[in-house]
Amino acid sequence: MSAGNEAILVIEDEPDIQELIRFNLLKEGYQVRLCRTGEEGLTAARSQPPRLILLDLMLPGMDGLEVCRLLKQDTSTNAIPVIMVTARTEEVDMVTGLEIGADDYVNKPFSPKVLAAKIRAMLRRRNGEPVHDTPPLTVHKLEIHPGRFEVKANGETVDLSLTEFRILHFLARSPGWVFTRYQIVSGVRGDDIVVTDRSVDVHIVGLRRKLGEFGRYIETVRGVGYRFREQP
Ligand code: CA
Repeated sequence: MSAGNEAILVIEDEPDIQELIRFNLLKEGYQVRLCRTGEEGLTAARSQPPRLILLDLMLPGMDGLEVCRLLKQDTSTNAIPVIMVTARTEEVDMVTGLEIGADDYVNKPFSPKVLAAKIRAMLRRRNGEPVHDTPPLTVHKLEIHPGRFEVKANGETVDLSLTEFRILHFLARSPGWVFTRYQIVSGVRGDDIVVTDRSVDVHIVGLRRKLGEFGRYIETVRGVGYRFREQP
């Protein structure tokens, strides 16, 4: 599949990494827009929303977590997938980033191939391809529309990240069934998308919070994993 005309916004202050990312994304056929600071990145994302944002966490001025928080709070930008670029020493920040709505992350130093695969998979999911023919699902007054990546709880739209959406859809398809973290990871990943066991927990926390009173339908089964409640 050609990736033509897919503008990706890269918010990264280190020239070497900017260059590495740009070179590899251009080679893959993406358009690339570069910003050096969070402030510039936010302005760029709002004025011309890209298909995806690569966000470095350590930035001069406003840090990446704050940028992510603002992107996910703003209705004009909250649907844009965000992949965080982190150093391994920033693991705590990475978990926080996932909690506030980032969709995935890559650790520095990263392989350009892995990065490209993650972007491709994320955009394919965004385009609805793997779930194209999957019909909407209604469980306990929770409506899940895979084709539209939309969830309504009691008729109200709930804003979820792509990964949260996939996890909810995965669990809700089989109410009462218990899944291990590993099964959830395998069930929601697309191509080379990496959802780690640990980030499953983080996504579940975010999912429950966003679902409000419907969050209790996602039950923790101690020592095993998670299940979607069978009875409302
Ligand atoms: Ca940096």
